[in-house]
Amino acid sequence: MASDMQTYLINQIKKQGPMTLGNFIERAMTHPQLGYYASESTHPIGKKGDFITAPEVSQMFGEMIGAWIIDVWEQMGGDEITLIECGPGRGTLMADIMRVFKAMPALTQKVHIRFIETSKSLQEAQKNAVQEYIDLKRVSWGESLSEQKGPCIIIGNEFLDALPIEQAIRKNGKWYQRTLDFAPEEDRFFSYGEQAMDLELIQYLPPHVKDNEIYEISPARNKFIKDCLRIINNDSGVALFIDYGHDKTHCGDTLQAVRKHEYTDVLGDVGKSDITSHIDFESLCEVIKKHDTHCEPVTTQRYFLRKLGIEHRAQTLKASAKDRNNDINSDLDRLVGRKQMGDLFKVLCFYSKKSASAVKPNGF
Ligand code: SAH
Repeated sequence: MASDMQTYLINQIKKQGPMTLGNFIERAMTHPQLGYYASESTHPIGKKGDFITAPEVSQMFGEMIGAWIIDVWEQMGGDEITLIECGPGRGTLMADIMRVFKAMPALTQKVHIRFIETSKSLQEAQKNAVQEYIDLKRVSWGESLSEQKGPCIIIGNEFLDALPIEQAIRKNGKWYQRTLDFAPEEDRFFSYGEQAMDLELIQYLPPHVKDNEIYEISPARNKFIKDCLRIINNDSGVALFIDYGHDKTHCGDTLQAVRKHEYTDVLGDVGKSDITSHIDFESLCEVIKKHDTHCEPVTTQRYFLRKLGIEHRAQTLKASAKDRNNDINSDLDRLVGRKQMGDLFKVLCFYSKKSASAVKPNGF
């Protein structure tokens, strides 16, 4: 029997024909009632959920980001500031950041928090996570980035990967766009199809590509980065995004679905698995540079966290909790180990021209 999400997608396809991959991912993930992030009553993120993220691995991750923010805020002049977090999940990263801010009462009094989150149940979790650290009058929520006045810092961990992509497939020297079609098979209701490539997107595709190659583009990520650029260039602003992906553009299918910490069929349990894809950081940097905004060279999570001093932090934690030494070592390895998150995860940082004269973010 089809689930509510599957029935909804089947009806959409019957009415309007096959949908592009991007439309499919957006609906599967963020449909207000049936989408993956909305409908999971238990939270998808964390040891008991479907996947685990860096802040959920260890408090050390959020502490490093907290110290990084304090440094940037001081360089920006130490005024009132809005700290915007995109896709905050359970709110763990922000809670760890706010704990670090306790050492800086001036910042705690001057910071406004804005969470960008589509899921109502995760918004609730975020409220619960931060309320012990900050007066909730200083915290607000939105479903997308809106206009923002005054200095701001925008952060996001594993947010960009959740935004939809389109896939272009090369056949007989021409590009086609991948679609989702209704095609009931033994264990699923959908299959991939192809349609003529959207003319708007053709300009972003590389010219000399072999047949059967797949090339991914993400109009949603480009639009989101442009929204960030508009906001940070209104005043002084700095943005930091951490996510998995490649620092050089290349062909390949990176779409994946994860459920209960295992890879699963993207077209299988739609609405019940987390569908993501790798970030093409080079293409995002091109968008940023076109907007006359300063962009640090993309670095790895390993380099960034070690430069910020995560190994010293691990030593201090180990000294104060001798019985947890093995756990702390393995958490550290998970965050910075080359075969773990360390090299796959990259760090993107960009800031307004207005900030560039005063700001030199650490970690690059
Ligand atoms: N940053 C968190 C969670 C990452 S999961 C962590 O590191 O643990 C992705 C998060 O982005 C979830 O909170 C999800 O609800 C949110 N999200 C996904 N798509 C979104 C969109 N289009 N707009 C706003 N939030 C979105």
